[in-house]
Amino acid sequence: MNLPTPRTGAPFHATALAFLFAALASVPIGCTATTTIDVPAASTAGPFTIVLGIAQDAGVPQAGVFSDPRWDDPAAQRLAVSLGIVDPASSTRYMIDATPDFKRQSLDLYRASDGPPRPVLDGILLTHGHMGHYTGLMFLGHESIGANGVPVWAMPRMAEFLRTNGPWSQLVAYGNIRLEPLTAGVPVELGDGLSVTPLLVPHRQEFSEVVAFRVDGPRRSVLWLPDIDSWREWDEWGVRLEDVLATVDVAYLDATFFADGEIPGRDMSGFPHPFIRTTIDRLADLPASERKKVRFIHLNHTNPALDPSSPARREIESAGMAVAERGEIVGL
Ligand SMILES: [Zn+2]
Ligand SMILES: [Zn+2]
Repeated sequence: MNLPTPRTGAPFHATALAFLFAALASVPIGCTATTTIDVPAASTAGPFTIVLGIAQDAGVPQAGVFSDPRWDDPAAQRLAVSLGIVDPASSTRYMIDATPDFKRQSLDLYRASDGPPRPVLDGILLTHGHMGHYTGLMFLGHESIGANGVPVWAMPRMAEFLRTNGPWSQLVAYGNIRLEPLTAGVPVELGDGLSVTPLLVPHRQEFSEVVAFRVDGPRRSVLWLPDIDSWREWDEWGVRLEDVLATVDVAYLDATFFADGEIPGRDMSGFPHPFIRTTIDRLADLPASERKKVRFIHLNHTNPALDPSSPARREIESAGMAVAERGEIVGL
């Protein structure tokens, strides 16, 4: 896709806006540019987030699904979920999660920033220990980038998992990554007026805790929540989605499956993700200004809402919500 090239003297916001308009005007590889966020021009002069992928862990299409026509349709392919954070004031860039698509996503992040090519990035914040969220760390190792001390923020169990299990332990032993602690509810300061705060969420925790992140800039806040078992369980923990939504400007939410029946022959009622339709129903009574904040991510390869012309997509849009697009920018 046509992400902006590194800055060559033009003010960053001009580059970012040029990208937004270019995205609207073209349908680049692996990205259907059908939606973008209403970002006032001035807001892109400061730190911003950029969506680097919207697919569930395994990407779209998925390994082993040989009959998927999207193998031969690059525009319909999707990278795994990741959010980039760029701070032009300090020429730094960060990534939430390191996905199996890290190779491409680290390039997209570099091109969206005005920073130097090295370090490849200035830090990674991990949500949890499932395949799509941390295995991209392998590219920082000896056989690839051979990075030097890239900060990797992780919750205690996640950090212990990386420290004590190969091949990840080698990244620590060789100093390719430097583990930095995360504490739920405690902001990590990334720059002047720019912070990221982990929020615990209920999701199967075989190897690690699971967190969402809120990204707070000088003017705007973004919620990045790729995986959660159910909104009801979060309620039981004393956290209501509606309350969190009220405190942010944009909320990227788990949208793994659209509705029951999506996987033929399987009763999906016990699947550990809220259906898009469940989220739409839950938020239906909120004012339009709140519903407009919702942008869906982490779509499974079976999700009909991946297709911009699908009835599922129309249902989302008539609920006043949207499916996120790779490359979309929110000025913070
Ligand atoms: Zn996931
Ligand atoms: Zn997960």
